[in-house]
Amino acid sequence: MIRPLALVLALLLLLTACGLTRAPSRDVRGADSFDDDVITARQLTEQFWMQQFKQQGLTYRPITAFIPYSGDSGPRCGNERAVPNNAFYCPLGHFVAYDRDWMESLWNEMGDGSVYLIVPHELGHAVQAQLESRFELNVQQELQADCYAGGTLSALINSGALRAEPGDEDELLLNLEAAGDPTDDWLNPAAHGTAQQRQRSFATGYNNSVGAC
Ligand SMILES: [Zn+2]
Repeated sequence: MIRPLALVLALLLLLTACGLTRAPSRDVRGADSFDDDVITARQLTEQFWMQQFKQQGLTYRPITAFIPYSGDSGPRCGNERAVPNNAFYCPLGHFVAYDRDWMESLWNEMGDGSVYLIVPHELGHAVQAQLESRFELNVQQELQADCYAGGTLSALINSGALRAEPGDEDELLLNLEAAGDPTDDWLNPAAHGTAQQRQRSFATGYNNSVGAC
């Protein structure tokens, strides 16, 4: 029997031996720009969920807007102000907004895997809103969004919509590690889960599809 952590690591090594590019890439070398990756991640993720909803006899409602912002200039979500260095889904307007500078710096430092984690994660919240999913703790909602991101990515790779390419070792592993909360504070309303919890949730979706989330 494989220990869960070993499984996660095996998965991540498999996955992170690869950069992600759209297939067929417009650039033969796969050197997609940051904006290409962001747009592609949104398009492919929403296409995936449209199919998933359809299979269940449901209709996926695309987000109304996908809004880049800079610093403090992001859109409000109800009474909440957008903060720098963040991406978020707003259920009130059914939109996703992201600090473009922040996400581009992650893309530069950690590779394109960052975009292919963050965008499907935020759109996972848009799915939760439509399915009217209920959670006792915020962290459960966050971990399910990570699981959805894993399931989305594996489906896109398996269908050939995304192509894995050599390089960028440990990219997604590092991304999830960087995104993990420093403490295991499950009752904190802002908690997203530890790096290990997030990696495990991502792996659950990746290995078993979004149906396992
Ligand atoms: Zn989230």
